[in-house]
Amino acid sequence: MSTEKKTEDMRKKFFYERKNGYDLIKTPERKKMEAYCEGYKRFLNTARTEREAVREAIRQAEALGFVPYERGMELEPGMKVYKSNRGKALMLAVIGKKTLDEGCVIAAAHVDAPRIDLKQVPLFESDELAFFKTHYYGGIKKYQWVTIPLELHGVVALKNGETVDVVIGHDPDDPQFVITDLLPHLGRDQMKKTASEVISGEAMNILIGSAPYDDEGKDRVKLAVLSLLYDSYGITEEDFLSAELTAVPSMPVRDVGLDRSMIGGYGHDDRVCAYAELRALFDLDTPDRTAVCILADKEETGSDGVSGMQSSAFECFMEDLCASQGVTLRHCFEKSFCLSADVTNALDPNYPEVSEKLNEARCNYGVSISKFTGARGKSGTSDASAEVVAHLRRVFDEAGVVWQLTELGKVDQGGGGTVALFMANRNIDTIDAGVPVLSMHAPFEVVAKLDCWMTYKAVLALYQH
Ligand code: MN
Ligand code: MN
Repeated sequence: MSTEKKTEDMRKKFFYERKNGYDLIKTPERKKMEAYCEGYKRFLNTARTEREAVREAIRQAEALGFVPYERGMELEPGMKVYKSNRGKALMLAVIGKKTLDEGCVIAAAHVDAPRIDLKQVPLFESDELAFFKTHYYGGIKKYQWVTIPLELHGVVALKNGETVDVVIGHDPDDPQFVITDLLPHLGRDQMKKTASEVISGEAMNILIGSAPYDDEGKDRVKLAVLSLLYDSYGITEEDFLSAELTAVPSMPVRDVGLDRSMIGGYGHDDRVCAYAELRALFDLDTPDRTAVCILADKEETGSDGVSGMQSSAFECFMEDLCASQGVTLRHCFEKSFCLSADVTNALDPNYPEVSEKLNEARCNYGVSISKFTGARGKSGTSDASAEVVAHLRRVFDEAGVVWQLTELGKVDQGGGGTVALFMANRNIDTIDAGVPVLSMHAPFEVVAKLDCWMTYKAVLALYQH
């Protein structure tokens, strides 16, 4: 054997090299990938808030035979149940052949996304223009959210117990909304500010009207706007006190790139993983171990609260399932596995300074596994064990999943959190995995279709294993 041939073989054997997913999949799989992504695009267009994501997930689940879980229900292998947590988070399960003392396989994603929430007393008129005051939700670069078309979504809960759904701006015939910005001609002082100060939180007021009501009193524009709202929704200014209304970007979900290899849209973080979980659960025959899919709320604000991943609503659901089989919850958790399915950063060649190329996720390199997250010395992480990573290597390689092992950004540069630690704290082996995203938390985020598809395959492989 020649020396060159020998060292070439040695390289093949000894080196670890990530490969572009397009070099690893064939045409028939690309066709499946395209079909899957069309379904995802429809889902993302429909699910603009956590409530809408939950509603759409339930609609799809019920069409496939999922039924609302009721306490005390007898659970047979193959049964499909779900439990909505106040319409803002959702837990679904396909009951496995084995009992829950052998653990279950959980995939947990979140369906909330950064957005512009209305304050509880939002409406004011100034210089004969009417606005909503806002308080943004999640980590955003505020300057990205001005001068883009916005839609209004949410609910108004009335004193009489009724809840009114509000969606304005989604239909092409609807009016839309916008947060204004200063013209460059008068922006000299503004442009000297740092990016986080260019738009102040209190200046993020949404423009909602300019035509005065036909009378001589004060706040005529505000009166006109309220009268329109009353006509359409039967609500008055006081009803905003018990409303959850939010403005979200109005750009429809679209293919990105001449080659249409990417998808642009609002809310990929983390509805892209939520959809992967849902579809994997839907495509599952009766699994060995019970498969659980979680669509959580409040991840973007720390997973607190009754609908967040720290809520014991999850224990409550799981304990009920366990009770029906005479199993103790903690025995189930101890043998369970959780994929915390959340997006990560994709290496952006325009900003190479924040990434370390060996370990940063790349578009089209498949589902991105993160052994740990956290920042500055891995603070706030649930570091998955080496054994858990080895388990994934085995499962994914067997199932033909294209995957990469990654870390979010350079050391000391930043980092991010997910729901992983809240699952791991429950004594469940947990690891992060998800789709790499360009422009994460921007109004129009970008993902690669191949990575969406591989995240679906990854969840399915774990459910089936
Ligand atoms: Mn996320
Ligand atoms: Mn996020």
